[in-house]
Amino acid sequence: MSFYEEFIGSRRYPRCFPRQPLCGAGCGEGWWPILHDLFAELEALPLDEHFAIDQVKEKFGGLRVYTSTYPDGVGEAIVRAEQRAAVTCETCGAPGEERGAGWVKTRCDACQAAWEAERSA
Ligand SMILES: [Zn+2]
Repeated sequence: MSFYEEFIGSRRYPRCFPRQPLCGAGCGEGWWPILHDLFAELEALPLDEHFAIDQVKEKFGGLRVYTSTYPDGVGEAIVRAEQRAAVTCETCGAPGEERGAGWVKTRCDACQAAWEAERSA
């Protein structure tokens, strides 16, 4: 299941994704439950007709979600999701923290160990 199939092709969130995200969307599956909660919360808000998710991505270890407009409640909901992602492994969803310097990723101990083993192999 790709990110697009999960969130956009499924048409579960028609008000969040009235069209393809202009700047692309994707992140590790560990953060998908956070995004399901976020999009469900956004769908329930009084959004304006121009609202759309423009971009979802990982940047500097953190989740970033950008929207075309910011009706009441949207910014706060996104901040809460980004705060959850900051302590959640992007790979598997377990409790995690930011790792590395320069190329930062949010991972749990197990995924970090697997990544380091793979890199040194
Ligand atoms: Zn993990």
